[in-house]
Order: sequence, then structure tokens, then C-alpha cells
Amino acid sequence: MLEEGRSEEELFSFLSLKKGEDSSYHHVLSSMCTIPHPVAARAHQMFLEANLGDPGLFRGTAEIEALLIERIGDLLHHRRAGGYATSGGTESNLQALRIFRKMKASSRPNIVVPESAHFSFEKACDILSLGMRTVPCDDSFRMDADALQEAIDADTCAVVAIAGTTEYGVVDPIAAIADIAHDTGVPLHVDAAFGGFVIPFLKQEIPFDFSLEGVSSIAIDPHKMGMSTIPCGSLLVREPSWFDLLNVETPYLTVKQECTLAGTRSGGAVVGAFAVLEYLGKSGLAAIVRGCMKNTKRLITGMETLGYRRAVTPDLNVATFHADHVPPGWRVSWTRRGHMRTVMMPHVHLSVIEEFLRDIGDNNAQKTD
Ligand SMILES: *Cc1c(COP(=O)(O)O)cnc(C)c1O
Repeated sequence: MLEEGRSEEELFSFLSLKKGEDSSYHHVLSSMCTIPHPVAARAHQMFLEANLGDPGLFRGTAEIEALLIERIGDLLHHRRAGGYATSGGTESNLQALRIFRKMKASSRPNIVVPESAHFSFEKACDILSLGMRTVPCDDSFRMDADALQEAIDADTCAVVAIAGTTEYGVVDPIAAIADIAHDTGVPLHVDAAFGGFVIPFLKQEIPFDFSLEGVSSIAIDPHKMGMSTIPCGSLLVREPSWFDLLNVETPYLTVKQECTLAGTRSGGAVVGAFAVLEYLGKSGLAAIVRGCMKNTKRLITGMETLGYRRAVTPDLNVATFHADHVPPGWRVSWTRRGHMRTVMMPHVHLSVIEEFLRDIGDNNAQKTD
């Protein structure tokens, strides 16, 4: 700490300098977050001091959280789902597994995940002392549902399927997985952290939500394709009473019990998430998804014209390629299998894609000269 505080002017010029060192989203093709919608930012700002960890003091904010969950439940075909706003997909996945671990009478519980699962499951297994059994994916990087049955044993407390993989943007065969989970009596958690706000708006219908009987819980993040401010994820479960398993007593708060992982929680981000969903409605979100999917197709066509083959045809706005270099100034990422990975988020406009294609094309020409 400084002995004497700095002047506001000097301080903010320091902050501006540091902000200048951040990547603006302009040339970022690697992120699943995006520039928040102005309506989300405005609503967040309005509720900066609201703490959802003490909901009795912030009744209005708590009601908005309940409305947010109701809206998302409606989108996922289960208006009466239980749920709360988490800090993101990691917390949602962890909390879902915590519930299913408590439901299972086993001294050595395990979960079954596809090899494409997000690294948050590794953290969750470590924290919860769960064994992790991995099911291989097929050539399209989707979980091989035929191999799932063998992976489940008497100690399996949950199966995980991914509705929109982080690396390849594909959706596991969730209907088939849900059938197997249902028949074996094992809860299925669907990780739709990224895909949850995309899949409902695609031309092609892909079943992944509570309309499938075998689906017990879903992670879906407003702070990815929900255009919200960070941090806002959400966890929805089929039976609201399941959250009782996580309750602890909170003697000095306005409510008696708490099932969330965090204590103090941002009301601002939650109101931001609700506000932008309410403002855009389904038609607004559908328009955003249409744009992102159109841009994904354009990038794939453009890259293939330049000789970079796609790694897979994605279901969502993630495009991956057999390519080993990136033009200077651009941010892409690389999958565990070594493919170039790009995410066509709303900030990646068509003009940005054309610019990227021009740059990688020039780069190509230089290499072959
Ligand atoms: C991003 C992501 C997560 C993790 O979400 P955070 O908000 O970063 O904690 C989990 N699962 C999938 C499929 C994701 O894409």
C-alpha cells in the first residue's frame, strides 16, 4: 500500500496506460467472451453494490436473479427448473457434480466425461475427490455414445456431455447419451457453458436440454454467448430441491441457508445478464447467432480456398483448421490436437474475417515465394 494516496487524475492515467496493454477484442479470434452488450453494461453499473450473498438486503436483485433463471429455464424447456447465477461454467460444473456426488452412496465415486471435456472437470474431480473416466470421441470429436455404457460402473455418480465443445464447437450426441443415462439411472449433466445460448437458435434442431428426460442439469453461461458482463454463468437443475443437498446454515445473514459456492456474489453481473436477455428477446439472440454462424461459414470457405482444410464441420461458431502459423497481430488458439482454433464471437465482424483472410493469404504467399 502507498502511505499517501495518489491523485485521481494520475491514477487514472496509469490505469489507461495499463488498459492500453490489454488486447482490444478487435483482432482476437481466440476468446469465448466478447464485448458486453451496452444494455448489460448499463444495468451492471446500476447494481454495482448489490450483493446476492445476502439476498434479504437486496430483494429486488434477488428477484431479478430468480427471473433470469426462469427465462433461461424457459429457453431450455423447463420453466420450473431450480437454479442460480454462478461465476461461470467452472462453478456450475463443480456444483452440479457436488449435488450428484452427495446423491450417490459410494465410497469411491467417479464421473464419466468425454475426452473433449473442458478442464474445469479436472478441477472439480480434484476438489470433490472424484475419479474421472474418459470416453473417447469419434472422428468428428463428439463423444462416442457406444463406448459410454462400458465406462459407467456401480460407482458412477454422473455422466457429463458437452453441448458445444470449447475446442471444436461440436455437440455430443446428447439424445443417445441421455437415453443411456436414463436407462442406467445415472444423472446426466450437460455442459452448455458456451453452446447454451447458441443451439436453441440454430437452423438445425439439436436436442440437448431438459426436453430430454435423461438430462438432470445444465451449465449455461450468460458471459459467453449471452452478451453479458463478466462474471455470470448459471446452473439449472431439473428438481429445485436438489440444491437443498448443498445448503449450509448462515447464522448472521438475512437468509438462513445458502447453497451457492461463493458467499458474496455480484448482483451487477446478474442484473446485466437478465437485462440483455430481456432487451434482445429470442429474436435478438437468434439474429446474433445467425450472424456468427454466417461468419463461421465464411471463414471456413475462405480458409479452404487458401488451402487450409477445416478440422471438422462445427455445429457452433467455432472454426478449426489444419494450419500451423498465424499472421502477426492476430490472436488465435491451438487445440490439444494441434489444430488452429478460432471462435466467431459477435465482435468478430465480417470485415474482421476478410482482413484475417487477406493477412493469412499474404503470409502464405510469402512462405511459398
Ligand atoms: C468456457 C467453458 C467452461 C468454463 O467456463 P468459465 O466461465 O470459464 O468458468 C466450461 N465448459 C465449457 C464447454 C466451456 O466452453
